[in-house]
Amino acid sequence: MKGLLAVMGKIIAIANQKGGVGKTTTAVNLSAGLGTLGYKVLLVDIDPQGNATSGVGVDKRATKHSTYDIFVEGMFGSDVVVRTRYENLELLPSSLDLAAAELEIADKKHREAILKTAVIPMRDRYDYIIIDCPPSLGLITVNALCLCDTILVPIQCEYYALEGLSQLMNTVRRVKRQYNEHIEIESVLLTMYDGRLNLTQQVVEEVKRFFPRKVFNTVIPRSVRLSEAPSFGTPIMYYDKSGKGSAAYMDLAREIAGKN
Ligand code: ATP
Ligand code: MG
Repeated sequence: MKGLLAVMGKIIAIANQKGGVGKTTTAVNLSAGLGTLGYKVLLVDIDPQGNATSGVGVDKRATKHSTYDIFVEGMFGSDVVVRTRYENLELLPSSLDLAAAELEIADKKHREAILKTAVIPMRDRYDYIIIDCPPSLGLITVNALCLCDTILVPIQCEYYALEGLSQLMNTVRRVKRQYNEHIEIESVLLTMYDGRLNLTQQVVEEVKRFFPRKVFNTVIPRSVRLSEAPSFGTPIMYYDKSGKGSAAYMDLAREIAGKN
């Protein structure tokens, strides 16, 4: 059965080459949140760390195929997709092998469009396709940028929050010029927000100056529950439904769904 939006799924890449800013936490919980709202969601894990895969309760050693097979063997997404135990949520799992894929595809023709070729044929089965990118601007991330409609950039509320964003924006501009003229910045998401700290407020002001009108109203608070949930393979709305982390990611899901 098709989800609420029908037509073609919107493809959102969650990207920031800076490590540990909340990409995977956002990919997992936004995907699960949209699923609980009734949207059909495909989560795509293209990080060899595989944290999005384990974050939705899938054992990456037990899956038959992974996004490695897409990049290196040319498999289609429909050959790789697995169900999760969560509502309306399917997954293209990652595996550790993926760490080698970047080198293995370096000489391939149309190497930037491999993920696109594999995923576009299954696009009409979903309302949203959410891609969890690795912390780099290499060829794997460029594949996500070539495929997506929009990029969601998580930014951690801390010192040097804006560091590296110019390189990210340069990469986005290059991809837009060469491969994907439709790509847009969805919005920037402030993560690990702690309103008690002056520093946090300063970062928020700085980010708003850097990205005028491109910051989500939803802000993700720092929450111990959000950091615990992945070790149980459980998105936050199934782990601590009434907590602030769950409320924030449900707000984000509604904010994104409301834009369509
Ligand atoms: P990488 O670049 O390594 O892929 P990432 O950008 O995907 O990292 P996450 O893995 O989502 O970042 O988060 C980094 C760490 O911070 C994790 O341990 C995660 O559990 C924790 N974390 C993320 N968001 C929050 C939050 N809002 N509150 C508390 N801890 C958080
Ligand atoms: Mg990650």
